[in-house]
Amino acid sequence: MVVFPCMPDLIGIKADSAPYPMITIGRNADANTRGTNNNSQKFGWILKNGLGDFLSKIRIIVFGIILVVTHIFDTNIFLLQIFNQAVFEIKSSVISTDEYGHSNSVTYNIQISKIKDKILYFNIDIMFDTHCHLNFKDFKEKVEMVVKNAQEAGIEWILMPGTDCETSVKAAKIAQRFAGVYAAVGIHPHHVRQIQKEGDVISKVKWETMKIRKLLNDKKVVAVGEVGLDKHHYQKTKYDYYQVDEEFVELQKKLLIEQIRLAIEHDKSLVLHNREAVDEFLKVLEENWDRKLEGKTVFHCCEPNEKLLEFAIKHKIYIGVDGDVTYLSAVKKQEFVKKIPLKLLVLETDSPFLVPEPLKSERIFPNQPANLKIISKFLSRLLKIEEEQLDKEVVENSRKLFSLT
Ligand SMILES: [Zn+2]
Ligand SMILES: [Zn+2]
Repeated sequence: MVVFPCMPDLIGIKADSAPYPMITIGRNADANTRGTNNNSQKFGWILKNGLGDFLSKIRIIVFGIILVVTHIFDTNIFLLQIFNQAVFEIKSSVISTDEYGHSNSVTYNIQISKIKDKILYFNIDIMFDTHCHLNFKDFKEKVEMVVKNAQEAGIEWILMPGTDCETSVKAAKIAQRFAGVYAAVGIHPHHVRQIQKEGDVISKVKWETMKIRKLLNDKKVVAVGEVGLDKHHYQKTKYDYYQVDEEFVELQKKLLIEQIRLAIEHDKSLVLHNREAVDEFLKVLEENWDRKLEGKTVFHCCEPNEKLLEFAIKHKIYIGVDGDVTYLSAVKKQEFVKKIPLKLLVLETDSPFLVPEPLKSERIFPNQPANLKIISKFLSRLLKIEEEQLDKEVVENSRKLFSLT
């Protein structure tokens, strides 16, 4: 059962498509309706047959008239706020794509089970999860379901970074299977340990970068990532020996520099990971920066740090905010988020990690892209911005970040 409350981003209703009515939501959803455009509040609708009993038909016709009037006058749809919410069940969904494989719209086959209060209306803000790991074993055999959940929650775009060669290959493969799902490929600083372990470091670095380079030819691989520096002492790690010493950090830097170059050379976006290494991280970036990376780079799961923010503003780097911002203990992060210019803000779930509250207290694991909306709701209250406006800006930022415009 799905409940779509508040403002409509409804694009069209096609009631003649038995057995269930169809709702189409998306950027170019006017393929078979009319008057829609990019994530807009404009819409068109078609209604031929009824959606139930006589009274429901009347309600829907009234609803339609309001839709058409507000569409013609391009007004904000405050009128519709007088209505409450519709409850209906999604029977299936179909994603249509354009010639480049970008998803244009999602069409839901729905069964209306109950119309609360006077009339139905819909709202799904189209959203973009800019960082999640469907390629991790937590989602083994579940990817299909998780992507479907995401689509039903309006998460139309997903970016999935690799963390080593294996998960990068997997990310690229998963991205091939779903419209709206894209991949980044790269070696995470934590897994630089694998290279260090294997002795002949120089040739291993070359070998690994070559494998990553190969993957960059894939159309659905839009970024290099996640790459960076990480000086955290992980308690839980697959490596028997994990020591964050100078040698290890130096090797991380080497890999990071190589992979920054890959992004520049191949004109790809860059997903950066930093944990407890701000000074070294910024130094590497400063020394290897290229203007080509401006507006195409993200500090994913950004630590609350003024130096990072300053660097991000100077170089037009996006800042990724995750579900941990909702934690009671995240006061510092919440204060930090308030300082991020809206035009640099992007959202991510980092699934399967960082489950937002209240799901964390309820122990509902693992995190998944469909939970992105919880983060955006929380931020809308924290930043005192209308949810709809926030979602819209953040999606625009995310699409620019990965050149998916
Ligand atoms: Zn990360
Ligand atoms: Zn990650």
